[in-house]
Amino acid sequence: MHLKSLTLRGFKSFASATTLEFEPGITCVVGPNGSGKSNVVDALAWVMGEQGAKTLRGGNMSDVIFAGTAGRPPLGRAEVALTIDNSDGALPIEYSEVTISRTLFRSGGSEYAINGAPCRLLDIQDLLSDSGLGREMHVIVGQGQLDGVLRATPEERRHFIEEAAGILKHRRRKEKALRKLDAMQGNLTRVQDLTAELR
Ligand code: ATP
Repeated sequence: MHLKSLTLRGFKSFASATTLEFEPGITCVVGPNGSGKSNVVDALAWVMGEQGAKTLRGGNMSDVIFAGTAGRPPLGRAEVALTIDNSDGALPIEYSEVTISRTLFRSGGSEYAINGAPCRLLDIQDLLSDSGLGREMHVIVGQGQLDGVLRATPEERRHFIEEAAGILKHRRRKEKALRKLDAMQGNLTRVQDLTAELR
């Protein structure tokens, strides 16, 4: 599995559609300060489901939409599409090439798709979670983050290891199940109260 290409349109400084092609191996993106190198990495995190505006270096999520320049008006939507070579079947889907895309409208709505078929964010997270890619997986190490890992407490370090080992997905599911169980317990108590009143 490797990342084949990334297309940005209306995402941060990339007003016009821009496609970056990646070959297997190491890719370096070089350019002057402020030319948009980090915006490419932000686009990668965003299309894989990142929900934190701060992680994307903005105040709120709509900050990822091209805000306009002196010569170009702002745009109404940001779109990013990531194509992954899946010929080794690392992603649990029967396609040798998988394109995940995310669109955000300035009016507030957002859309996700896998190979052009509309889907939920959860579907993208589930698709990527066993591959080591995706939200909250430490596959993107930002400037200064390495320092954070070195200074982490033993508990925080354990969290990193659990993420890398793929335990996080199950922990999230367990938390969801416990929340449901909690709500169910509340309902049960209410039913018991009502039954007692009716007796
Ligand atoms: P450095 O080498 O200094 O880290 P960089 O190449 O990583 O720089 P980025 O941080 O990716 O640069 O890009 C910053 C540029 O992106 C700034 O010029 C900023 O104005 C522009 N930018 C960020 N968000 C938007 C947006 N929503 N609309 C238009 N331009 C934006």
